[in-house]
Amino acid sequence: MKLWVLGSGSNGNAVLVETERSRILVDAGFSPRVLKHRLAVAGVAPQSIEAVVVTHEHTDHAKGVASAARKWGWTIVSTAGTRMMCPDWVQLRTILTPRKSTVVVGDFYLETVPVSHDANEPIAVIVTSLAEGSRAGIVYDLGHVTETIYRALDKLDVLVIEANHDEGMLRAGPYPPSVQARIRSKFGHLSNNAAASTAMQCVHSGLNNIVLAHLSEKNNTPRVAMSTVGDSLRRGRFKGRLTAAAQDKVVGPITVGASSAASAAPLQLALGL
Ligand SMILES: [Zn+2]
Ligand SMILES: [Zn+2]
Repeated sequence: MKLWVLGSGSNGNAVLVETERSRILVDAGFSPRVLKHRLAVAGVAPQSIEAVVVTHEHTDHAKGVASAARKWGWTIVSTAGTRMMCPDWVQLRTILTPRKSTVVVGDFYLETVPVSHDANEPIAVIVTSLAEGSRAGIVYDLGHVTETIYRALDKLDVLVIEANHDEGMLRAGPYPPSVQARIRSKFGHLSNNAAASTAMQCVHSGLNNIVLAHLSEKNNTPRVAMSTVGDSLRRGRFKGRLTAAAQDKVVGPITVGASSAASAAPLQLALGL
């Protein structure tokens, strides 16, 4: 299995996952023009994607879903709550999933898990390749990590986790107190420290890659996020690669599972691959 973060942050999110047989996107928060361009960087034709799993209705995750699905024949997978917020999906092929459920699309076994965020029925997604057994967890836009989420993130090969803000930078930054409070709340976004403790809980011998996602451009930097999470992981037993996703740049391919030989080297830090 291979994974690319086509872009991540408050201006758009999309993650491409492929096996030899199938391709899906998790979120399509860019216009079709931008999606097509980013997919071309990954060497992928948009028509070859089977489905887009939409985590929630916020523009930075759903902006391109309707037009791309119409243009390239993608199936949409989402909760009923998310679809309710997206009236422009009318007449598009949609698979509705309960928030805590499983659904098979092509070669992918998808597990959906509820997350706590200020949207209507938002979810995190764990993608398992039926052919290869490799597992990727994609977890962003959430205020805190529940036991249910931790349980779902068992035995991952790659974890894409939100590292939205540095707590000090948020406090000293340009956002008014009400917006800061929303970001910090249980329905907001994960800090670098929260990302670090979540990542630490996921460490096991098979976890080869951790990708930090949805970094704030105002209240974080890739360097600060990598250093906070990297310091924790260095104290733990993580032996893989830590990468920061970017808003305007494709990061990948990240090779997931059996074909990515487990590294014997200590923690590797990579600001973009
Ligand atoms: Zn978002
Ligand atoms: Zn959101």
